Amino acid sequence: MISLQDVNRYYEAGERSVHALDHVSLDIARHEFVAVVGPSGCGKSTLMHLIAGLDRPTGGEITVDGLSLTTADDAALTHFRRRQLGLVFQFFNLLPTMNVRENVSLPLLLQGVPIADAFARADELLRLVGLTNRATHFVHQLSGGEQQRTAIARALVHRPSLLIADEPTGNLDTASAARVLTLLRQIADEQLATLILVTHSAEVAAAASRLIEMRDGRIVSDRMVAL
Ligand code: ADP
Repeated sequence: MISLQDVNRYYEAGERSVHALDHVSLDIARHEFVAVVGPSGCGKSTLMHLIAGLDRPTGGEITVDGLSLTTADDAALTHFRRRQLGLVFQFFNLLPTMNVRENVSLPLLLQGVPIADAFARADELLRLVGLTNRATHFVHQLSGGEQQRTAIARALVHRPSLLIADEPTGNLDTASAARVLTLLRQIADEQLATLILVTHSAEVAAAASRLIEMRDGRIVSDRMVAL
């Protein structure tokens, strides 16, 4: 489903050029649950941004479900993201002028789903992440953990086939983290979605079926994990 062939990403930083991804090749099948680990600066976020079609490689080829993210035009990339992708990044990008229910509904509204249906589905997700009583609150009224769960609900609301999350349990207490992890897996199983998580958490990494370790822009280990 996801294929990276000899992908490079350089960043120009002043006089210096940073080789953030160094000849990365990788195939991820539908419904795999992949944890990506490695020290800060090793290229994890760069890899996630490329697979999400938010950034383009300096060299190499990336395809997702047959769509070349390297050559697709912006309209095709937008369509891909709206239909297929659920994203949870560290800064949750929730809209401050919308309440929690509206934020969570947004991916559906952008697809043209009628507002009543979108709100009903959003409320279902809010129940699953334990935020029913926050539906009409605004983002600034939420704790960090609640914002994170709102972002997770929004990432799942349109039943994406590919879910990419950067430290999805980073700000959560142990109980909330376990609940979010269970939820991510449950939704991934229901939809046969592919789950790619960047994590520093041993518990999250242990839940994955495949563990990819990165260092200095390269994949240094890639193995299946026995469940
Ligand atoms: P990680 O997510 O593993 O912490 P990143 O993918 O964020 O790593 O970064 C990989 C390398 O690329 C680091 O050396 C980082 O400093 C550099 N980098 C990331 N983004 C940029 C950018 N926009 N401009 C310049 N350098 C960057």
